[in-house]
Amino acid sequence: MDCKKEQNKKNCNCSYDCNKKGICCECIAYHRARKELSACYFDEEGEKSYDRSIKHFIELNS
Ligand code: SF4
Repeated sequence: MDCKKEQNKKNCNCSYDCNKKGICCECIAYHRARKELSACYFDEEGEKSYDRSIKHFIELNS
């Protein structure tokens, strides 16, 4: 199965300049190792804070 990087990038809301953009498996693994969530778990405003913590996600969604 080919990587869908270019297709994924079209749906990626991450505003951070990052070489994992569109490589969702690497993106999720990177943030999971830090007990965080990827940008796509957050809305536009939440994502812009670059706070990818689970605590931040819960605060925004409770
Ligand atoms: S969410 Fe994190 S790992 Fe994923 S593209 Fe954005 S900065 Fe990179």
